[in-house]
Formats: sequence, structure tokens, C-alpha cells
Amino acid sequence: MPRARIGLFGGTFNPVHSGHIHAARAVRDRLEFREVLLIPSYRPPHKGTVGLAPAQDRLAMVRLAVRDCPGLAASAVEVEARETSYAVLTLDKMKAAYPGARLFFVLGTDAFAEIETWKDYRHLLEECLWVIMSRPGGARADARRVLGSRPAALCRVLTAGERLRDADLARVRFIFLDVDALDISSSAVREAVRNGRPIAGLVPPAVEDYLRSHQLYRKDNG
Ligand code: ATP
Ligand code: MG
Repeated sequence: MPRARIGLFGGTFNPVHSGHIHAARAVRDRLEFREVLLIPSYRPPHKGTVGLAPAQDRLAMVRLAVRDCPGLAASAVEVEARETSYAVLTLDKMKAAYPGARLFFVLGTDAFAEIETWKDYRHLLEECLWVIMSRPGGARADARRVLGSRPAALCRVLTAGERLRDADLARVRFIFLDVDALDISSSAVREAVRNGRPIAGLVPPAVEDYLRSHQLYRKDNG
């Protein structure tokens, strides 16, 4: 039995948007993941709390966004921990929850380029498998810089149509994947809401309804 591949896709998801879902599906399909878990942080270590919607709302929206997407799921592991969300803690919990699985961190080039600010990042870089997704505004070169003098054989740029075989994972630890990323960010969604502009197309319809009914990100609401 091949080991199941599971993606750990963390983020603030403030709110989750169609770019996240599009990218998660692309990773699931291209890398043949059993599941990609979208993991909203409870308290992101590197972002302030200004304009941050409550964790329960962010989690609820992720649940709505993945509802009709097979192979995508929301994970409450960080929200339920109710503490500052460090990937290194989450990884330990996920290892226990998915014994025998191959766990991959999934993140955009912009996030990977900042990994040196993560707690215990050296350990994480050595310990895990990484899927680094293209994102408009996040250059692959910036992400590569983080890897410094690590041997090129650890990295693999997966081109269209190529499969990632289990045998490749004996060497490769950093997989760069072009997900045809959508040019959408949570900041842009929040700004549109604040300015009363439409967000149809930027977030899944159920998320749009949730934002409206819970009056999140409105001008008069922080
Ligand atoms: P913000 O604008 O508030 O920073 P964001 O859109 O960047 O929000 P985050 O929650 O910060 O969303 O990102 C979580 C993860 O999703 C990161 O790894 C980020 O690189 C990735 N990501 C965000 N938007 C996209 C996108 N459009 N395409 C691919 N990856 C994305
Ligand atoms: Mg971001």
C-alpha cells in the first residue's frame, strides 16, 4: 500500500477565498493527495489582530468553502488549540493524527519566502516535505533563496503533466508547483467589502453569504 499523501495548508484565511480553493484543488490533483487540509490559524504569530475576524468565523467560512470539494477538508486543530499557531506544533499533532501518512506543508511562494521568521524553521525545513505553489507577486526566486546552499537535488520543479512518484520522495523535499494561481488575496477581499464593492467571484458563494450575514470586514465593524 502506498503511503497516503496529505497536504497541510495553513493560513489566516481572513477570509478564505477562491484563490485558496483553486490552489488546494490543483495540489490535490497534481500530486495525487488523499486530502488537503485547510488549517485556519487561531492566532497568527506574524500578523496583528487588527482586522482579524474571530477564529470561529474564519473556520466556519473554510468549512463552507470546502463543502463541495472532494479531497479538501477544514481542520480545526489550530483554532481549537486556542494558542498562538506555530506550524511546528501543528505538525506534531498531525503526525499523531495521521500515522503512516506522508505529510506535506502546502504554501505559496510569498509565504515560503518568509519562512525564516517561523518558529523552529530549520528543523521544519529538514523534517518535512514542502509544496511551494506559484502565486502572483511571489517570485519563485525569492522562495529558492531561502534554500541557500542546500543541494539542488532536494528541489523539484514539477512541470505540466509530470507526476510526483513515491520514488522521487527519497531525495526531493521541496516541490515547486505552478497552480495557475488566481490573483486574489484576503486583503483585497477585505478591502472590497470595506468599500462596498462586490466580491462575487473572489470568494465562494457560501462565503459571500456568510460575510454578509455576519457583517464581517465592514467599515463600521473594525
Ligand atoms: P492576506 O492578504 O490577508 O495576507 P492571503 O490571501 O495571502 O491573505 P493567507 O491566509 O495569508 O491568504 O495565505 C495562506 C496561504 O495561502 C499562504 O501560503 C499563501 O501563499 C497562500 N495563498 C493565498 N492566496 C493564494 C492564491 N491566490 N494562490 C495561491 N496561494 C495563495
Ligand atoms: Mg498572506
